[in-house]
Amino acid sequence: MPEGDTIFRTARALSRALVGKPITGFRSTYPLLTRFNDDSPLAGQMVERVDPRGKWLLIHFSGGGTLATHMLMSGSWHIYRHGERWQQPGINMRIVLENSDYVAVGFIVPIAKLVWTRDVEQVLRIPPPAIDVLSEEFNAAEVARRVLAHADEEIGAVLLRQEVIAGVGNVFKSEICFVTATSPFSKVAELDAERVAGVIATARRLVKANVLEDSGGAIVTYGGRKRRTTHAADQGASLWVYGRGGQPCRSCGEQIRRRIHGPDVRVTFWCPQCQPTPDGSDVAG
Ligand SMILES: [Zn+2]
Repeated sequence: MPEGDTIFRTARALSRALVGKPITGFRSTYPLLTRFNDDSPLAGQMVERVDPRGKWLLIHFSGGGTLATHMLMSGSWHIYRHGERWQQPGINMRIVLENSDYVAVGFIVPIAKLVWTRDVEQVLRIPPPAIDVLSEEFNAAEVARRVLAHADEEIGAVLLRQEVIAGVGNVFKSEICFVTATSPFSKVAELDAERVAGVIATARRLVKANVLEDSGGAIVTYGGRKRRTTHAADQGASLWVYGRGGQPCRSCGEQIRRRIHGPDVRVTFWCPQCQPTPDGSDVAG
């Protein structure tokens, strides 16, 4: 699943290609989108704004409509010049937006809705900006309140709840827990307020650092961008624990553990030495 930073970068690219120019063409394989377009044609409207909101990407049109797409695992937006060859087969196309310069193509976008902008948050249950790590209106105290409401859940699981903190995906979950020396299997109730605040601040810092202009496509939490000399640099050197099961911890040398768990079969990576459980018990890797 794309993390918040991926959605942010997609929004930025779409924004550059689409905002301020009239739409000249719209196509979709989704009947509900084309029906909305029949009633309120997008062609001729301007794209006013492209917003990343949690895992949603929102394209706002001057006619009062918003195209909301949610990528889940598979979806992606590509931007092409007219006549340029697509990188995916046409059969994967779900949505096309065109202006005089560009063709934006949504491939295998599994969830797409066209709704009135004023109804977006209600209809899509989009997390409010106060809990979106990439929003200027992010409110750490509000997020802390929501985290603490899940006292008997593991912090690693709570970090993935989009109604608690939006924009943290599975990679960041493991990285945030490592950076704050927190066992992902600690119950929220076992963490003191200071640690909860630290986890939230770290979530915001790590995700934000990955949307900087020069941050490229890969998620980087270890060593920062300075260690990466090219975009193709060893991605294995860019994370503290995620994807590093069995390898030595970058901090203490202990073997990084990997565990698959939860109803949606999430994988978690952690260092048992750097991230002890509060009661000192071992967690099977
Ligand atoms: Zn360690």
